[in-house]
Amino acid sequence: MKKVFIKIYGCQANIADSETISGILKENNFEIIDNEKDADFIIINSCSVKNKTQSKIFDYIKKNKNKKIIVGGCLTKTVDLRKKFPELYGIFDTNSITQILNIIKNKKDIFSDEKENRILVPVGRAKKEIAIINISQGCLNNCSFCATKLARGNLNSYRIGEIKRAIENAVKEGYKGIYLTSQDNGCYGFDIITNLPELLQEISSVEGEFIIRLGMMNPWHLREIFPKLLETYENKKIMKFIHIPIQSGSEKVLRDMGRNEESVKIFKKIISEFRKKFPDGTIATDVIVGYPIETEEDFKKTYELISETKPEVLNISKFSPRPKTRASKLKQLPSEIIKKRAKVLNDLYKDYIKKVEKRKSLGKLISEEI
Ligand code: SF4
Repeated sequence: MKKVFIKIYGCQANIADSETISGILKENNFEIIDNEKDADFIIINSCSVKNKTQSKIFDYIKKNKNKKIIVGGCLTKTVDLRKKFPELYGIFDTNSITQILNIIKNKKDIFSDEKENRILVPVGRAKKEIAIINISQGCLNNCSFCATKLARGNLNSYRIGEIKRAIENAVKEGYKGIYLTSQDNGCYGFDIITNLPELLQEISSVEGEFIIRLGMMNPWHLREIFPKLLETYENKKIMKFIHIPIQSGSEKVLRDMGRNEESVKIFKKIISEFRKKFPDGTIATDVIVGYPIETEEDFKKTYELISETKPEVLNISKFSPRPKTRASKLKQLPSEIIKKRAKVLNDLYKDYIKKVEKRKSLGKLISEEI
């Protein structure tokens, strides 16, 4: 029996894709092991969000060059890995995950422009208690800094019935936590004339003891559906956790990023209504500091927004230009400025979160990676 080690970088969607790879391989008599040392094949599920992660992936490939390495994930669409590492055994993109056996058998690279429907493909879950379910692939935006869009393309939502069946299977297998993930849960269903509240209503009728956690939702998609979504949150099967990436508090920066200019207004409204209804709920957001055109004045707006809304989870990213993105062509800010702004924001977070933690028992949720 051949042994495979899967090295995962990046987001929940990548973990879910890796679980699909693991499920396919297990069904076909491969053993999934937890170390690269004994592996016949290493499959790297890569991420293209940050420069730092890209460097880590390159170092990992170099360190294991005596092994048969296959690379999948978002980085395969933004970097010419075949040219950089000709010794790789195989390369595949995010649309070719179900081709993994073909790649192993025929030592080849596979890329496709057509999205696969993987919702009901057997999965080998990485975590014992949590089942991560991808509800769609791709998104409806074109954010200037984002390399994920280049890899994952436009929105393609899975049907409610298919998602429900995937959840029923996971609950039957004993999973107590169902994490719904995608590049942007907020626009779920817009391509198939449905939406997130409709999905939630349907899946919370699945019998059994489990809790659903929603992944990130861009604020502008919630404008229409938020009242209904808020009602849906009342269901005890839905975790009172909301993740709204804001990225900047400055309208000017948001406009340049290609994000909706009204994001800040919508974000504040959502937070205020969510807090009013669920005072013990948890709010998460993401912020990019040091976006190329960000002035001190713009940064101050982000600082003020965070200071005013005090999200319990704050993911701060220092801007780093990603290949082939629009923002990579802009004049970059000096790295000292970016570091300084990240520190200022992080200090603000550390300061208010201590008080919030005292007030609420945030417990395990906060320490979990989003
Ligand atoms: S919404 Fe923007 S940041 Fe999110 S995946 Fe799409 S393009 Fe990237």
